[in-house]
Amino acid sequence: MGRLFLTERDREILEEWRRGSIRVLDDVQRDKYREPTGKVIVVPCADGHQMFDICKFQVERTAEGTEPMVHILSLNGGPLLLAPNSPLLEAGDTDDKVLLKHIGAANSIKGTPTVILKPHAPCGAAQAVSLSVIDVVELLIGAKQRMREHFPLLQVVPKLHVDWAYREGELDTKKSYFLSRENFEEWKRVAA
Ligand SMILES: [Zn+2]
Repeated sequence: MGRLFLTERDREILEEWRRGSIRVLDDVQRDKYREPTGKVIVVPCADGHQMFDICKFQVERTAEGTEPMVHILSLNGGPLLLAPNSPLLEAGDTDDKVLLKHIGAANSIKGTPTVILKPHAPCGAAQAVSLSVIDVVELLIGAKQRMREHFPLLQVVPKLHVDWAYREGELDTKKSYFLSRENFEEWKRVAA
């Protein structure tokens, strides 16, 4: 499969989250105090069209004079696999347990307490089970909650990676955002 593109509905919602009065997606560059620097474990989707941008983003945010340490643990769908009752898992699948095991080991080996959960839009694994970007964020929140229960000492940071491209070959269309759970819940209340 080639590069994927946002559905019009998902694009509308994402633009509202970025530009509307309730800012569900924060600009990470304007919110440095919440941006982890230095050593990080990142759990993204494995999508090969996005991985370079995800690595580049973290390397660029490594503190000056510090060697980058970006420990990536990635399967198709990424952190969406960690949500309770994830629709990405079929009966008998243990991908979630595999990911949790490796996150725990990475924390022990590398000594970093920061784990970034970073699903993305558009995502082939999410589209395969007909998830909207709203569903993706719901699963991300569930995944974060499960991580906190499983690893109470780790700092778990929820983010969303968006590829805004309209067509194949468009460059510089990829951005990473913090997810504000509080603002997402507020947005849902207003949108209902
Ligand atoms: Zn994906």
